[in-house]
Amino acid sequence: MFPNEEHIYDFAFTQASIGMALISFDGFLIKINTALCDLLGTHMEELTSPSRIPQEAQFLIHHIVQHGIPLQTKVLEKLLLEQYYNHPLGYRLSLGISISIIRDHHNLPLYYFAQFENKTMIRQMETQFHFTKTNLHEKEDSFQQLLERLPLAVLITDHGVIQYVNPSGLQLLQAECVDELIGMSTNSIVDVSNHDRLSERRKKYYSHKSVGSVIYLIHCLNGQQKYVEGFSIPITLNGKRAILGVFKDISAQTIEGERLMQSEKLSTAGQLAAGIAHEIRNPLTAINGFMKLLRSTEHKKEHYFSIIESELKRIEFIVNELLVLSKPQAVHHSKPMNLILIIEQVITFMSGQASMRNIEILPSFTEQSIWINGEANQLKQVFINLLKNAIEAMNQGGTIHIYVFTCNNEVRVNVQDEGCGMTEEQIKALGQPFFTTKETGTGLGFMITHNIIHNHGGAISIVSEPEQGTTFTVTIPTIIEPEETIK
Ligand code: ADP
Ligand code: MG
Repeated sequence: MFPNEEHIYDFAFTQASIGMALISFDGFLIKINTALCDLLGTHMEELTSPSRIPQEAQFLIHHIVQHGIPLQTKVLEKLLLEQYYNHPLGYRLSLGISISIIRDHHNLPLYYFAQFENKTMIRQMETQFHFTKTNLHEKEDSFQQLLERLPLAVLITDHGVIQYVNPSGLQLLQAECVDELIGMSTNSIVDVSNHDRLSERRKKYYSHKSVGSVIYLIHCLNGQQKYVEGFSIPITLNGKRAILGVFKDISAQTIEGERLMQSEKLSTAGQLAAGIAHEIRNPLTAINGFMKLLRSTEHKKEHYFSIIESELKRIEFIVNELLVLSKPQAVHHSKPMNLILIIEQVITFMSGQASMRNIEILPSFTEQSIWINGEANQLKQVFINLLKNAIEAMNQGGTIHIYVFTCNNEVRVNVQDEGCGMTEEQIKALGQPFFTTKETGTGLGFMITHNIIHNHGGAISIVSEPEQGTTFTVTIPTIIEPEETIK
């Protein structure tokens, strides 16, 4: 026999996999299924007996009854609630409750029909998702902030078209606002001579090959040319593959490098010149001698003679300076020496000149002896040149401090004056042969100084402030004191 409708409903009710209950309007559970008992972690007998019903379940029913009132008057057809439920095993469930009303033939409300679903997992996942999303947003935000504040230029490109530039990038490219650059092709920024390099790297990116760092010659928006060095990494921007490049302006270093190369070349030229200088020095001496002889006999042309003599002196002076340039090989004859002694000798030699101009040279040594490998005459030349420049810079008199100290197998000599100082342009020009601000200067002194120190494996640096003074720091590698000098 085919079961009647009531049987089918009853069967569906008891076997349903979601919790179900018929609840009276005064809050009693008339009928419940096993799925609800399992969900709430209680027995059917407990739930259906008003005296034994657990407090948590009672709260839940009370909540349903309270919220269900509008359903009785047909204001609402169905109500969806979400309610927490403390499970007897100690965890908290998030229950989705759907409530409707069962009515009789006359359409009068009989009781609530409630269905219970466990939404805990979904809610947990939602919270987790929300958390991850905020976390991701925060990360994106801090990444963006990092890019915005980075002192290096950052560009994001998609197939060579600029999508993003940070403020340092704007500055590097001399652009006023981002709009000037967005959508622009990197081909129009990078010099044509570097286009091969550019497209080769682009190809490598999109075929997932690794690429190293690169140097480009670029044209800024204002036409200025710069050398930049940088590297790029593939990233995902708005779901698309893109390339993030980080660049640094290295024009200054490159120019410095070019200038150094130029000065290397010039020092070779200097050596050639020195060969010639050597050849003309002797005749000059002879001419000088004859001049003196002539002057003693011919008095009338006194004026011309003194001009010739002073000009000859100047030539001799320049020739002498040039000659020093020609002697880097002298370093091959270098031997261990106490630098303190050299400096002391130079100070003694220069103090006459200094005191004539009201200048005091104040040495300060932390040690009695500092040993280096070097060529004494050349090193003397270095400190003579530095002291001469310091003296010439101090028109008002004052003090020149010389600090000598060792640090990490190096000796440092600071020659600090209180003279006129140098502007940035002057510092940049220093080292270029024949750069001088002095009427009778040769502009060779510093170049010679630099050359000698370089040949001794050392370095020279300068800090200068106009009207404040200048400090030259010479650094030379030290050696262990030779045994024969230790008594
Ligand atoms: P010269 O002394 O013949 O001019 P140098 O090569 O020794 O040539 O120096 C080049 C220039 O550098 C000087 O003319 C001067 O302008 C500047 N200079 C060098 N040393 C100093 C210093 N101690 N203070 C200020 N200016 C300096
Ligand atoms: Mg000089």
